[in-house]
Amino acid sequence: MVQPSKLVTIVGARPQFIKAFALSRALAEAADFEEILVHTGQHFDANMSTVFFEELGIRRPKYHFDVQASEPGAAVAQMISAIEGALQTEKPGAVIVYGDTNSTLAGALAAAQARIPLVHVEAGMRSFNRRMPEEVNRIVADHLSDMHLCVTHSAAENLAREGIVRNVHVVGDLMQDATHLATETAERTSTILKRLSLAQKGYGVATVHRAGNTDDPNLLAGLFDFIAAEAQRRPIVFPIHPRTARAAAEFGLDPCRMGVIVIEPVGYLDMCHLLHHAKIVLTDSGGLQKEAYFHRVPCVTLRDETEWVETIACGWNRLWTVPDYRERREIADFGQGDAAAKIVQCLRDGLQRPAN
Ligand code: UDP
Repeated sequence: MVQPSKLVTIVGARPQFIKAFALSRALAEAADFEEILVHTGQHFDANMSTVFFEELGIRRPKYHFDVQASEPGAAVAQMISAIEGALQTEKPGAVIVYGDTNSTLAGALAAAQARIPLVHVEAGMRSFNRRMPEEVNRIVADHLSDMHLCVTHSAAENLAREGIVRNVHVVGDLMQDATHLATETAERTSTILKRLSLAQKGYGVATVHRAGNTDDPNLLAGLFDFIAAEAQRRPIVFPIHPRTARAAAEFGLDPCRMGVIVIEPVGYLDMCHLLHHAKIVLTDSGGLQKEAYFHRVPCVTLRDETEWVETIACGWNRLWTVPDYRERREIADFGQGDAAAKIVQCLRDGLQRPAN
């Protein structure tokens, strides 16, 4: 018999491991759910995947695929096929997908084809820029989902504008939960400031990874120049994403300039510690824009738009094309580190249990 309390969660990319870190432990504590983790293999390097499972104690995925097609369409097709097999074996009561990656899209399509209820965590985010692959992934996932778990009220409003009003819940941000869970441990254990000879509040952190930025040589060169200009004021730590490193090599661009400390991607605890003591964050990452706020560090978003409009409206973030911040206020929507508990309750209320 199908057990609605059996959940399959699809992960594959770095931000999804962080979100799973927060939700999977709440599901394990809740005891009335059995969660099976499926890793698509989208991110596979030790420092983009393994480190998060090890240092955050995330349960080993029961299924760990190895999808490494070079073209996104082929990768998504292989992921769908792999996930389909896992769903046929597990017959879960629901499938959970996070965010907006190719793994999200593949999980959503596989669940919809198998007619298994789909739960989208971080539903309703919109950049209103369909040239971004992430935007397409989000829209498809939202329109296939049976339960929409939104971080913010503006995300729920985005869904309503597209006619999605049933089973929409604003639950806050799992990344806030993860920050709550990890900051103290990071303060105790991370040695990254010492290793890089950085003083608290004396440096900035930069990351770049979006295809929209890395695929365009002129744009990428402009971003490297922007980071280098900021590094004239204070050292900037730049943990470089593998895609960005590949693009820089291909275009003959050198991110290493005076004051820019280019390092391999770091684990979450080191990143948490770096963010906690940073003076500024420069990033095109959705996660980092919010984490900058969680640590109350001003952010500059290296894109021409952002989905996380509250961070701009409340003065903690600005686009790199806009010189000024707005007046600074707290952001209520992200929650107090209680998003996982709210999600567990939504799943309890929203998934039908079989009659005995
Ligand atoms: N992150 C990390 N190490 C790094 C860069 C990022 O642990 O070297 C974490 C970061 O703190 C955040 C998440 O990875 O929790 C963000 O992932 P990413 O920027 O790849 O994706 P996005 O948030 O843009 O979807």
